[in-house]
Amino acid sequence: MSKHNIEAIYRLSPVQEGILFHTLESAKPGAYFSQYSCVCEGEFDQRRFAQAWDEVAQRHPPLRTLITWERRDKPLQIVRALIELPWTVNDWRTELPEKQEQAWLSLIGRDRDQGFDLSEAPLMRFTMCRLADDRHRFLFSFHHILFDGWSLLVILNEVSRAYDAMAAGEDSRLPQARPYGEFFGWLEDFDATPAEAFWANALCDFSTPTCPEVSPSERDRSSHGRYASREELSLSAAVSRRLEAFARRERMTLNTLVTAAWALLVSRYTGSDDVVFGTTVAGRPPEFDDAERMVGLFINTLPIRVRMHEGIELKRWLEGIQKQQLDMRQFEQTPLTSIQRLSGVRPGVPLFESIVVFENFPEPMLQGANPTGLQTSRTSYDEYSHYPLALIAFPGDRLELKVLYDNRRYGTVSIMRLLNHLATLLKAFSLDPSGSLDEISMATDADCRRSIETWNETEAEFPDVRCIHELIEMHANNQPDRTAVATDSAALSYHQLNARANRLAHRLMAAGVGLEVPVAIFAERGPEAITAMLGVLKAGGAYVPLDAALPRDRISQILDDLTDTPTENAGSSRLVILTQANLVAELPAGDHDVLLIDQTCAAASDRSDANPPHTATADNLAYVMYTSGSTGRSKGVMVTHRNLVNSTQARPHYYGETLSSYLMLSSIATDSSVAGIFWSLCSGACLALPRPQLEQDLAALAEFTAQRECSHLLCLLTLYDLILEHCDASRFASLKAVIVAGEACSRDVINKHFENLPGVPLYNEYGPTEATVWATVAKLTAEHGHTGAPIGGPIANVSVYVLDAQQRPVPIGLAGELYVGGAGVARGYFNQSDKTAERFLPNPFVNHGGATMYRTGDRVRYRDDGELEYLGCLDNQIKVRGYRIEPEEIETLLVTHPAVQEAVVILEATADDETMPAVEALAARLTRLNVANADGLLSEIKKLSQAELEHALQTAEDIT
Ligand code: AMP
Ligand code: MG
Repeated sequence: MSKHNIEAIYRLSPVQEGILFHTLESAKPGAYFSQYSCVCEGEFDQRRFAQAWDEVAQRHPPLRTLITWERRDKPLQIVRALIELPWTVNDWRTELPEKQEQAWLSLIGRDRDQGFDLSEAPLMRFTMCRLADDRHRFLFSFHHILFDGWSLLVILNEVSRAYDAMAAGEDSRLPQARPYGEFFGWLEDFDATPAEAFWANALCDFSTPTCPEVSPSERDRSSHGRYASREELSLSAAVSRRLEAFARRERMTLNTLVTAAWALLVSRYTGSDDVVFGTTVAGRPPEFDDAERMVGLFINTLPIRVRMHEGIELKRWLEGIQKQQLDMRQFEQTPLTSIQRLSGVRPGVPLFESIVVFENFPEPMLQGANPTGLQTSRTSYDEYSHYPLALIAFPGDRLELKVLYDNRRYGTVSIMRLLNHLATLLKAFSLDPSGSLDEISMATDADCRRSIETWNETEAEFPDVRCIHELIEMHANNQPDRTAVATDSAALSYHQLNARANRLAHRLMAAGVGLEVPVAIFAERGPEAITAMLGVLKAGGAYVPLDAALPRDRISQILDDLTDTPTENAGSSRLVILTQANLVAELPAGDHDVLLIDQTCAAASDRSDANPPHTATADNLAYVMYTSGSTGRSKGVMVTHRNLVNSTQARPHYYGETLSSYLMLSSIATDSSVAGIFWSLCSGACLALPRPQLEQDLAALAEFTAQRECSHLLCLLTLYDLILEHCDASRFASLKAVIVAGEACSRDVINKHFENLPGVPLYNEYGPTEATVWATVAKLTAEHGHTGAPIGGPIANVSVYVLDAQQRPVPIGLAGELYVGGAGVARGYFNQSDKTAERFLPNPFVNHGGATMYRTGDRVRYRDDGELEYLGCLDNQIKVRGYRIEPEEIETLLVTHPAVQEAVVILEATADDETMPAVEALAARLTRLNVANADGLLSEIKKLSQAELEHALQTAEDIT
């Protein structure tokens, strides 16, 4: 470096240091690269224009500055005394306008990709493209570390004046310029102590930063890793005027309104009522003379924290934000790195990732005052930062909103939607400032039409069937010899199954079983269980499946629940339990009638093989399925024939692959068993039943699948993962469709599926027991291995709604709670009207009275293509091997232990099924903590089922 050509050397301001850091972060090419462009109209003198720039560059040191940081403790900026400005001139006059436009766009892109070498001055360059004799397109690129948008305004003004003056043969008479270096002296005198107290007070209890996120499927994946893209939108002139009038009337700035709208948007997108984002301040201290005429980097980005107090009046809330912005003015020189340290956010985690820049100055523009001088049009200015999401607002006749974003995290569709949401909020502000903040909806009319109406157009007409067994009887009649159920060693034809079920039904009816009467089935997965279900349905009753593997206490509790208050229509007061000979001993004692399935359906002269008359209506109960309940008491979901018939008929309506043999891997006590049992038996296919626990021997399971030539398989994601991991794909050659359900579908499984079974369609089914097995479904492709699997859209005659806490439709792209309406919504919980009222609500979106919707407790969002994405549970529900467990249930159970006063159950994700070690760990922990003396015991339990927990408690009891 030549010593002679150095005018000054000084350090970097804290903001410049920050920019240097983020520029050198290799992951973000294009960060802090700024481009100004315009078209120069009319007569234009290129040589004079370059001279005007030379004059201005001589006036302001930042235009001659480079940065040096290597082999130094602290980076420095070095100001050259003399500089040569780099110009490129292109002559495109012979090209057609479209060609010129293309060439221009590609030039801008290449220019940004090229970036700057920070150690070479000047950190700027100029490109001039001649479009016609009297039209030039100009590009000025510079690194933002040197100066800010305000400085650009100063520079362009001076260049225009110098150019015009030269044209007139005059001196430009620009006023004396104050060098940027003098600002450093002022900065050094800045007293940091009160500022630090201010920021610490504002942020010390803020620890969880949030930033709007969108579905990975909506990212721009075509942008070749170039970091920043932009989208823009202008408010209408009327809304812009109303906003300005409102701001004036309420003595607020437009900046406050835009900042507030952003705060609300971030809060709604992230679901957090305490948000922090960045806001850029001009940073030109009024007490520093000539600050407004200087060129240099003065801006600073500061955090603003906004809370959404429930029920607060919009106007009061806005006033709070206005005040906050004023209060921070006097501390705006504090470097962000210091503020970050004073906050409660962990080091290394950015305090915020989105910023709002409100451009308080007129648009920087090259424009001579003299009509014969410089005249320009099509001005554009883009200033990229390292923040993934930056809103830039330009006031004017129409308030302009521009978003610059990281296209690895967002995409055009999602950003345009976000801009529309922002506009909706600003419009709402302008209409009624006296309303409450909570009442403001961000959903656009288009959002509501699509998500509530269009995507719920699922009406489908199915053959008129009142009760589910009608369909099975039809197959027994039409194809009596076809195999209905098969195990590895036995099979029943449709005729045999039907006849056995009929005998059972007649016996049950004789015992008083009829409409609405629950009949428990305590059985293993197998032909007996299936026969029993069908028998109960034919008798007009509702079957209640109890898995033989369930813990005894759970069984007793369900049996108690069933006998507690007999339902109105119940003809029999004693509960009938159907079971198998090998399981009788396992049944808890109680006041029930126990019937052995095999014995009861064996041929006997006093019982008929004929179908009993169909007494059930569509609205009678078909089954009651028990799931975990938070009060420590299981909830029996009451499903009607109407629910079940729709759920079943919707299957062939949706799935194109012909079902010939269904591999049933579920326990009879989870509702995914319902899917396979009725789908296959109502389509005349074979229900293949692996013997109980065969899932634990994957090789044998694969063998069974091949032996029974299963065409369809529906199972929990975790089980399917194990199958893919450990089984030979050739054993699954008969499969025509695989359905995963019951748990969030992972990308890993999708990838593995398409690697192993590339020709087999894969589906993701979603649905709570309360909505009868399935409510939505998506067909997955290998592409979903990158973007994640959606849970799709509603099945036939089902509608879904994504709502906020006030049960209003949530905008598309935002997370809300999923509600399910339509034909699948169950009647409610058995004998628990309070719980029923909590979750089964009147459906406000349909006009016929009495319709209900089920509140799932699941967090989802709509993608722009109408597919839902599952984001997790709103409550703490967890799933252990397909069983829903509400942690409160375990807590309730824990505190029944005499030594436990308080219990909190939390779920920790574990890589694989480590349940048993977890049980041991729990037992060990209970002892170590010396439960007998522990004041408040916090038990951490990993993935425990009730049975395992009980085992753990038992162990703990033995030890203490
Ligand atoms: P269950 O009532 O036992 O069928 O469990 C229903 C719950 O399982 C739902 O409320 C979801 O929390 C979860 N679930 C079911 N299917 C899916 C799926 N495909 N993706 C994510 N979660 C699911
Ligand atoms: Mg289910």
